[in-house]
Amino acid sequence: MRPFTYARVSSLNEAARESSRPGAMVLAGGTTLVDLMRGNVLAPDHLIDIRRLPGMDHVEETDASLRIGALSRMADVAADERVRTRYPAIAESLRLAASQQVRNMATIGGNILQRTRCPYYRDGESPCNKREPGSGCSALAGPDRDSAVLGGSESCVAVYPGDLGVALVAFEASVELLSADGPNILPFAELHRDIGDEPERETTLSPGDIVTAVTIPNSALVRDSAYVKVADRARYAFAIASAAVGITIEDGVVTAARVGLGGVATRPWRSHEAEAELVGRPLTADTAKAAGQAAFVSARAGRDNAVKIALGPRVVERACLRAGQGGERA
Ligand code: FAD
Ligand code: SF4
Repeated sequence: MRPFTYARVSSLNEAARESSRPGAMVLAGGTTLVDLMRGNVLAPDHLIDIRRLPGMDHVEETDASLRIGALSRMADVAADERVRTRYPAIAESLRLAASQQVRNMATIGGNILQRTRCPYYRDGESPCNKREPGSGCSALAGPDRDSAVLGGSESCVAVYPGDLGVALVAFEASVELLSADGPNILPFAELHRDIGDEPERETTLSPGDIVTAVTIPNSALVRDSAYVKVADRARYAFAIASAAVGITIEDGVVTAARVGLGGVATRPWRSHEAEAELVGRPLTADTAKAAGQAAFVSARAGRDNAVKIALGPRVVERACLRAGQGGERA
């Protein structure tokens, strides 16, 4: 591991100032960052420990929204009764992520900003445009079972691995930031970039930006929502495919729908195609199936990852049917 300096900050202004130093990175729970530093994948010059910042580990609910501080632990948010009952897809996406030990340490801010699990990125040696721009992409040239089928480019096909982000993109969450210029609010859908030819730039954040909270608008859609995840193991594994779905039904007809996809795309992925397939129709097994198929209409398989295109539509279908029943509460 390359030597670095360490600063523990105790105010947001200090955090913003310290984290805008060249080569600085923010440390929250450390469950992604420290792993990648140990593997020499990330090598910050300055580590800015924000864990003691006040006022960033609360869940606040109003009639209009749920606001989650960026330093809230995944485990605490997953167990919060307000989240479980009124934001079920958010609670389920957290409960099905990682392990209890990781969830006890990991924060909401760190979760949405976690790095890809592409094995070539993480081994620190294989050619990888994301880790070393211009070096090539080992996944495009070799085994690619874990790669994305939506959103890939000729530079990179790495999957965005998080679960919570799938629900946040579906339910139109926003992200609160503190930057050198002051506070700012960004739609969550604009936090992650399309991969394009700069895979090393994963988000639209500027150096020094600190995520302070995420806010999810309250709606009937999120109250009747579900998160379905399929992975190699029931626990402690990243999604092969996942879906967050919210559905509103009036007089037997779907009047609004939200569909987010995970494990299959390069960023948290909203499927407007699946939503369009649902709205205006009764929610039946056939409409749920059609929504699943619509979600993957533009998917492209590589050598070994066609399983995602086979599995993904069924995951969406299942999430639609569960959301249509009011969602199975976490
Ligand atoms: P850190 O590791 O501290 O930071 C992660 C990144 O975010 C760093 O780049 C850091 O600089 C940046 N950062 C953190 N907080 C802020 C902030 N407030 N503002 C600006 N930048 C910030 N996740 C899933 O979603 N699903 C899974 O199934 C899953 N399985 C896992 C299994 C294992 C074994 C492990 C180790 C992790 C797994 N994870 C999974 C990932 C885990 O959820 C993330 O590692 C964790 O959420 C990151 O949070 P953290 O607080 O530890 O972030
Ligand atoms: Fe690197 Fe992206 Fe290729 Fe993986 S898919 S090897 S992260 S460039």
